[in-house]
Amino acid sequence: MLDAVAATVMPGITCPTCTGDLRLVGFFLSYRDEDQKRVCRTPLWCAACDQVWDKWADRDNAPLAPHDVPLPESWKQRLLGPQP
Ligand SMILES: [Zn+2]
Repeated sequence: MLDAVAATVMPGITCPTCTGDLRLVGFFLSYRDEDQKRVCRTPLWCAACDQVWDKWADRDNAPLAPHDVPLPESWKQRLLGPQP
């Protein structure tokens, strides 16, 4: 059986709602209307307030936008890793 591995907590960036730690959910390629480019988004999950935020992978300083799809429970547990 594989051990769950806690996801990376993003350094230097916190949840806009509650200032909790944000964990990297993954990467997905999406189309950006604004400049008509295909760009990776990196959804970030805040365990404290259970909100997912979207970040553009190529825009480090852009504000986070709320992600419209809730995270499945099984993903949350994997992101948190083994609990004491
Ligand atoms: Zn939060």
